[in-house]
Amino acid sequence: MAHLVAEINRNDRLYYVEARPVIPDAEYDAMYEELLALEREHPEFKDPNSPTLRVSGEPISGFAQVRHSPPMKSLDKCYEKGDLMQFDAFLSREMPSGAKWRYVVEPKVDGVSMSLLYEDRRLVRAATRGNGEVGDDVTQNVRTIRSIPKTLPDDAPDEIEVRGEVYMTRDGFARLNAALEESGGEAFMNPRNACAGSLKLLDPKVVAGRPLDMVVYNSGGVGCDGFATHEEMIAAFARWGLPVSPWIRVVDGMEAALAAIDELGGRRHGFRFEIDGAVLKVNERPLYDALGATAHSPRWARAYKYAPERAETVLRAITVQVGRTGVLTPVAELEPVELAGSVISRATLHNAEQIAAQDIRVGDHVWLVKAGDVIPAIDGVIKEKRQEGSAPYVFPAVCPVCGAAAERVDGEVAMRCRNPGCPAQLQRRLEHFASRNALDIKALGGRIADILVEKGIVRDPLDLFTLDYAALAELNVGEDGAPRKFGRNAAVMREAVEAARALPLDRWLFAIGIPQVGATVAKDIAAEHERFSDLADSPVLRNVIENDAKKGRERKILEIKVEAAKAVLGFFAGEYGKSFLARMLSLGIDPRRAEREQVATAGPLAGAGCVLTGTLSRPRGEYAAMIEKAGGIVQGAVTSKTRYLIAGANVGATKTAKARALGTEVIDEARLLELLGAAAQAAPEGAAPDAADEEPPAVRQQTLF
Ligand SMILES: [Zn+2]
Repeated sequence: MAHLVAEINRNDRLYYVEARPVIPDAEYDAMYEELLALEREHPEFKDPNSPTLRVSGEPISGFAQVRHSPPMKSLDKCYEKGDLMQFDAFLSREMPSGAKWRYVVEPKVDGVSMSLLYEDRRLVRAATRGNGEVGDDVTQNVRTIRSIPKTLPDDAPDEIEVRGEVYMTRDGFARLNAALEESGGEAFMNPRNACAGSLKLLDPKVVAGRPLDMVVYNSGGVGCDGFATHEEMIAAFARWGLPVSPWIRVVDGMEAALAAIDELGGRRHGFRFEIDGAVLKVNERPLYDALGATAHSPRWARAYKYAPERAETVLRAITVQVGRTGVLTPVAELEPVELAGSVISRATLHNAEQIAAQDIRVGDHVWLVKAGDVIPAIDGVIKEKRQEGSAPYVFPAVCPVCGAAAERVDGEVAMRCRNPGCPAQLQRRLEHFASRNALDIKALGGRIADILVEKGIVRDPLDLFTLDYAALAELNVGEDGAPRKFGRNAAVMREAVEAARALPLDRWLFAIGIPQVGATVAKDIAAEHERFSDLADSPVLRNVIENDAKKGRERKILEIKVEAAKAVLGFFAGEYGKSFLARMLSLGIDPRRAEREQVATAGPLAGAGCVLTGTLSRPRGEYAAMIEKAGGIVQGAVTSKTRYLIAGANVGATKTAKARALGTEVIDEARLLELLGAAAQAAPEGAAPDAADEEPPAVRQQTLF
């Protein structure tokens, strides 16, 4: 169990902190599952900091209060560079005579301030800033953030408190909002909002699905006294696996600091977190005491806020778009205006409730911002400029495309068109079907999808397989008054459609566009199924749902997996799903699972998955190197791809039984050496099995996504 905990923690770090994962996700999941199983069998050996606690754990009923010592102060903010010059003059006056100092410039991350406390180098508490004196204990939720180490290495202090900012990644925010909107939920206004909302959730399982991360940039009450400079402290944090800012400058003098602030300002849209300013600190920590603090803020640091990037424009109209699942999304049609480097003429309005809440009216002057620096959004109405006689916006009662009544589904914020034959929904489904991560039919973009549906040429995505492509070449796809034939593109499209027949199961599953089933989820599900047709009545998916109901919080697996399992079974149980599958089979299409990439091509263990377990007479690393040299693949835990489980001493019967059930051969060390001996003979260079001077095995080919 300790081995699994260490391996999972190590891989989390490789994946989330160093961004260089070395094992496939499936293998990681298998280790995770094995640890969960062992913890159920032997709760007495369960590590209180087990990585499994990151995602399971009991829903928190309210949050306990944590008193911060010392208080978590905020920084004095300034908006003018002149204020920073005054800060420099202030320091010159207040510093002990003869003191020399440098400045640190760091991004001011726009998130939620957080304190992490480690005792015996284990994460024991995470607390929000709250009012600075008292915050909320959100340990269970913060444990779900994979980049935050649950244990620190041996060279870290036994007890240490560090502070920083938890944030939601910008692209994660965009994805989360898109998913929330598509499922009829309420979108968040900006990433900070989404981050704070996520941390306040009472169910850590839901938090685990949120794209949260952290930047640690400050010391807390204990453990950081020994550092001479801030720079040195941050370097140590990084060494211990704590997530730190990817950008930091240490400079001499205020002039250089201002230049660094400008440099950071130029890059402000390039980070995975939102920043709303720069933080300027004195680098030399021993000087902090001499400078002291006010009641609210330390006197050795300042926050410089960049001017908010927003633009004023006029809302010309509100149009309503129909999504792939029928969700009606209002869109602001704007007087084109430049903002943060691009010209914007449209912005999402999320849903009817948000329009009503902000009382946004057609003809209003509005402020435009970029939420998460990505998505243009309206940030308020300039009411003084409102035209007389304007009226509150009334959301249409019918689908703007097919005229079916728009309905609000229970528990959702969004209005939906529920007409299964709605051409707008079909257009978006067809576009999704042909998209890059789905069936990658390049000649079929959004505009062509619109035309094919409009003209009644395609009534279902599968019609692509029976189209008259010769006739399609003659199709007019030009604008009004500028006719243009589809021409050669018809042949290109036909070729892509034919090639799509051979695409693996996961691509097809994603292409259907079942709610909850994104590309990643589709891969996870596909890995468990041989053929597409196996999905329809899949015992695996039924198991996921049953296990979840039975074991409740104990069995984690991502929340989405259960929801996705339900959605997939639901799709194939419905009339449309049934006819879709039947038609695929009649077209001779039944996609297979993608084969995992195999690297090893030679040697008697070529391609054989091997797992080492139990007490062995030689170091594990030595055996691992020998196995890989013989073409084997060393895995962390037994999966259906494991050929040999090499069992040393003290291996439990459960483990070997489980391995055998998966078709794995359980062998001992002697048998392994026999196999490796054969390898040594077979290898032309006569590599001895215990040759220690060989190169270490190369990092394996990845099947990660
Ligand atoms: Zn409709």
